[in-house]
Amino acid sequence: MKKIVLFFTMMVLLIGVCGVSRAEDTLQGITKRGVLRAGVKDLTPGFALADLKTGEIKGYDVDIVRAIARKLDVRLEITPVKEEERISFLTEGRVDIVAATMTRTKEREYLIDFSHTYFVTAQKFLVRKGTVQRLTDLNNKTIGTVDKTTSVVNVRKAVPSANIVIFSDYVPAFLALQKREIFAVTTDEAILAAILVTADEGVFEIPQVSISKEPYGLGIRKGHESFLRFVNQTLLDMEESGEAKRIYDKWFGPESSIPMKRTFKITSR
Ligand code: GLU
Repeated sequence: MKKIVLFFTMMVLLIGVCGVSRAEDTLQGITKRGVLRAGVKDLTPGFALADLKTGEIKGYDVDIVRAIARKLDVRLEITPVKEEERISFLTEGRVDIVAATMTRTKEREYLIDFSHTYFVTAQKFLVRKGTVQRLTDLNNKTIGTVDKTTSVVNVRKAVPSANIVIFSDYVPAFLALQKREIFAVTTDEAILAAILVTADEGVFEIPQVSISKEPYGLGIRKGHESFLRFVNQTLLDMEESGEAKRIYDKWFGPESSIPMKRTFKITSR
């Protein structure tokens, strides 16, 4: 019996030690390399959009990880990620952090850790003006969205009769809407609003029909507690100092091209 207890104690200690050293890997690795490797999108206006001429990716998500790199006193290295790569790039160790309009969900929390919520939006629809007043107006319609997202899961539940068409990204989905190939595009309101400002005025709109709340978290490899703590503390400090609001205002504030009310604050809840 004593031997069994000793064996289990040793195992617990071993797992604990491995856990601690693993937990320090990301933070130590970043400071040793002098680089924070961040996965962001590259075709999501407002959050991370590649400049057509220079290729530089700019947006809210980029500025958030840039602030974290600055706090770490390291260089920021950006890697574009598609929706379906947001988790695999982390688990495969190709990036240290993912800032990619990624909603915190229970399912994803089995695979990765999330920081405190750093942006909140809701899933809505982008449609031709006057075509949608209530959710039932979308019944049996063709709706475009992107795979491996909460958008596709939510719309399938909310409008089961709809014909869901999967696009490689939301911008191509909007092009299909412009060509009248689909009736609506659905995803997070902030993404839709950023796409809407690129369209001719008065043709499209985002009706007040919402099917979910979407709190975004920064993705971090599981078990890297010291890095997660660092990121969370940085986010709280940014809220406290006003930097988080400044970044929000730069992309979504009243003076920006995509004005949207900031309905959240970064907190530890
Ligand atoms: N935020 C949602 C998600 O994480 C949908 C928008 C997106 O593609 O990021 O899946």
